[in-house]
Amino acid sequence: MARRKANVNESSCVACGVCASQCPKGIISIFKGCYAVIDTESCVGCGICAKACPANAITVNEVQEVANGSK
Ligand code: SF4
Ligand code: SF4
Repeated sequence: MARRKANVNESSCVACGVCASQCPKGIISIFKGCYAVIDTESCVGCGICAKACPANAITVNEVQEVANGSK
């Protein structure tokens, strides 16, 4: 099963915090004022953060879920 997850490009992020203020799940924090960190476990892949980011530092990608026990 594939799910969509947001991912931050830390080298592009300018730590403006716009993504954190827009995420409906409230799961983005700014790590030590340097770059955004997303709690990907809780991310629903809505893409709001990616659209809001002025630096285009966030991408939302399909992530393949590994079924239990089949690692
Ligand atoms: S994709 Fe949606 S839920 Fe995930 S971090 Fe971005 S705004 Fe939050
Ligand atoms: S909106 Fe973009 S540049 Fe601003 S903190 Fe979030 S990821 Fe970084």
